[in-house]
Amino acid sequence: MRPLIAATATQDRPLPWGWLLGALLVAALAYAASCAWWPFAHCRKCEGRGKFARKDSKVWRRCRRCKGSGTRLRFGRRVWNRFARVRKAAS
Ligand SMILES: [Zn+2]
Repeated sequence: MRPLIAATATQDRPLPWGWLLGALLVAALAYAASCAWWPFAHCRKCEGRGKFARKDSKVWRRCRRCKGSGTRLRFGRRVWNRFARVRKAAS
């Protein structure tokens, strides 16, 4: 007894692993390049405003997450910074 369905599915259409890996590599490179060009993104908590208004909008307080700047470091850039710091410490 052979598992017919599985056998035919894998034999008829093999997954294009080369294409998938290539696309993944291209996407990773594009993301790395974009992180190099634009290291900052809007703060998620205050959506780039850097401050919050009370309901009556008379009192403003600073966003604690981004310390009022309204920006945050992107994930890819944070990883890169950590990598650079480790490399600097090693040399
Ligand atoms: Zn913020």
